[in-house]
Amino acid sequence: MYNIFDFTLEELQNWMKENGESAFRAKQVISWIYKGVKEFDEMKNIPVALREKLKENFLISLPTIVEVYESKVDDTKKMLLSLKDNNLIECVIMKYKHGNSICVSTQVGCRMGCKFCASTLGGRIRDLSAGEILSQVMVAQNYIGERISNIVLMGSGEPLDNFENVTKFLKLVNAEYGLNIGQRHITLSTCGIVPKIKELADLDLSITLAISLHAFSDEKRKVIMPIANKYSISEILDACKYYMDKTGRRITYEYSLVSGVNDSREDAKSLATLLKSMNCHVNLIPVNEIKENTLKRPSRKTVEDFENILKSYGIEVTIRREMGTDINAACGQLRRSYLETQK
Ligand code: SAH
Repeated sequence: MYNIFDFTLEELQNWMKENGESAFRAKQVISWIYKGVKEFDEMKNIPVALREKLKENFLISLPTIVEVYESKVDDTKKMLLSLKDNNLIECVIMKYKHGNSICVSTQVGCRMGCKFCASTLGGRIRDLSAGEILSQVMVAQNYIGERISNIVLMGSGEPLDNFENVTKFLKLVNAEYGLNIGQRHITLSTCGIVPKIKELADLDLSITLAISLHAFSDEKRKVIMPIANKYSISEILDACKYYMDKTGRRITYEYSLVSGVNDSREDAKSLATLLKSMNCHVNLIPVNEIKENTLKRPSRKTVEDFENILKSYGIEVTIRREMGTDINAACGQLRRSYLETQK
């Protein structure tokens, strides 16, 4: 059985042709599913025989909502979703003045092993399909009854470790017949898989690329991010230059501040020196503490000092606004704590 959300219009047109149907039926079916129709029998302009054929081959499969945690402070909603095979994933809906934004997962778990991250503790279970990434947006829109206009690929998983499905998702979510979310409203965050950054650049998309840097030197980076053993910062920055040349898009560097690890004034100065010549934006994230490790977030003062040092070097920097502090759950924590209670 196929999940119909995994199909582009062109793919469904081909399926129709291969199965002796008219290609125009594909458009009809697709417009129903994006309207939220969950049964082929509700597709009134589709002949009964074709509906039967579709039922034999396709599922209109959206994840089911297991739990929603709603913040009373700022309307942030964290959703725990269950997939067809009962794997759990999470996504977060954030309300901003400029519209609704969603943070989606790209894998069940993750195999990158970053020390501060809860998503990676149980390793990677499996990749999400393009349709499964997309259907997080569908379910969230249905739930809030409003359009979602911005997407960040910053949930569980490493997007560039699931390259085929993630790039297909980017195509699907951007399609006019689908959710029609502009590429400029999409940010993909990666821990820095160099060859895949270049491959992404060659696709010439206008999405924003965010790099999880978290340290100014390879030596320091290796302490918190195993991927640093594979790719050096200088290789990452070269790939970023390539990306900028190809796409004309400025890159965001994420820097999660961990007390006593990467938050000193010297760290800030060295980071500034490293990035000074890059046309970039730095996003500081005071680390979300998780119970599985002892990493602590720095004081507000330390974070602001760090910010000011970067600014003094002419680097554009923001401190990540914290959303849903009363339902505080860092990347991957919802799924983890839920699985623990089920044991
Ligand atoms: N795998 C991708 C995207 C998922 S994580 C990546 O590495 O970029 C999204 C961002 O949140 C990354 O910058 C990641 O390093 C950061 N992050 C993960 N857990 C965190 C935590 N507990 N506190 C602060 N930032 C965290």
